[in-house]
Amino acid sequence: MTYSPITPTIPLDAQGVHHGFLRLPHSRDESAWGAVMVPITVIAGGQGPTALLTAGNHGDEYEGPIALQELAATLDPAAINGRVIILPMMNLPAFSAGRRCSPIDGCNMNRSFPGRPDGTVTQKIAHFIATRLVPMADIVLDYHSGGRTLDFLPFAAAHILADKTQEAACMAAMEAFNAPWSMRMLEIDSVGMFDTEVESQGKVFVTTELGGGGTATAASVAVARKGARNLLIHAGILKGTPQKAPSEMLDMPDERCFAFCETPGLLEPMVDLGEEVERGQPLARIWPTDRSGSPAQEIPARLSGILTARHVPGLVGMGDCVAVVAQRVT
Ligand code: CA
Repeated sequence: MTYSPITPTIPLDAQGVHHGFLRLPHSRDESAWGAVMVPITVIAGGQGPTALLTAGNHGDEYEGPIALQELAATLDPAAINGRVIILPMMNLPAFSAGRRCSPIDGCNMNRSFPGRPDGTVTQKIAHFIATRLVPMADIVLDYHSGGRTLDFLPFAAAHILADKTQEAACMAAMEAFNAPWSMRMLEIDSVGMFDTEVESQGKVFVTTELGGGGTATAASVAVARKGARNLLIHAGILKGTPQKAPSEMLDMPDERCFAFCETPGLLEPMVDLGEEVERGQPLARIWPTDRSGSPAQEIPARLSGILTARHVPGLVGMGDCVAVVAQRVT
C-alpha cells in the first residue's frame, strides 16, 4: 500500500457502528501540530458487499450531506448484510467554508483525483479515498448538486463507459436510486474527477445532481434520502423493499447540450427547469450591466430537449455555463 499521511481514528473493518475521522496533519499558523479532521462513519453487519457513500466533494452542495448525516446517525447494523462507509463532507475544508473549492489550497476536489500523498490538503484527502476507501467498495455513490452557481432538475446519473458490463451495472444502480430523472451523463471535463477514478477501478458508480442554488429543499432532500436507501437495497446490503416512483430517462448526446456565455451581464432566463425547448429557441437573454438602451444578447438552444440545468444567481460572467439541455430517451 502506498504511503498516506492520513490516519483513520476508527477501524474500517470492524462489525458494528464506528464514528470518527480521517485525521490529516495540517500544520498552520492557528495550530502548529493541528489536523484536518474529515468525518467518517463505518457501519458493518454480517457478511456482504461494501458501499462507499460520499458527499461534500463540492462544499456548497447540501442534499448529500444532509441525507448522509441522517444515515450515519440512524442506520442499524442489524438491518444490513455488509458494510456502509459514509463520508458526508469529504472535502471538509470546502464544506466548512460553504465553498465549492477548498479555501486551504484553492483545489476543486472533483478535479484532484487520483490525488497525491505528498500534495496539497485536497490532493492528500483525494489520494486516501482513491487508494484506501474505493478499493474496499463494490458500489460507490457520490452526491452532487448545482452548488452556488448552478441549479438542476433532480437526477441520478451514470456515464457511458467502454466496459459495457460495468456500464450496465452503473445504469442499473442509477435506476435503483430512482430520482425523478435519470441521466446518461456527458462530462465537460472528466480528467481528475472522482467519477473517473472510481470507474477506472471497475466499480459500480452513481452520481447525482439534485438541485442547487447553494441550498437544499425539502423535496430535494427527500430524493437524496430515498436514493441512498434504494441503492443499499439494490446492492444487497440493506434489507427491505425499495420505494419506487416514476423516473424519466434523459441523455446528454454531445457538447451541444451546454450553453456557455460569451458576454458577461444580467441573466434573463427564458425557459425554466423541466420545460421543453426547440433547437434555436432562446434559452436566455443577457442584458448589459453597464449601460441602458442597449439590446440583450440571446443564447439559443443548440438542440431540442428539456432544460436540465441553469445558471444562478442573477449575473453571469464570461464563459459561464448558462444552461444545459438534455434529451428524453423514448
Ligand atoms: Ca458538484
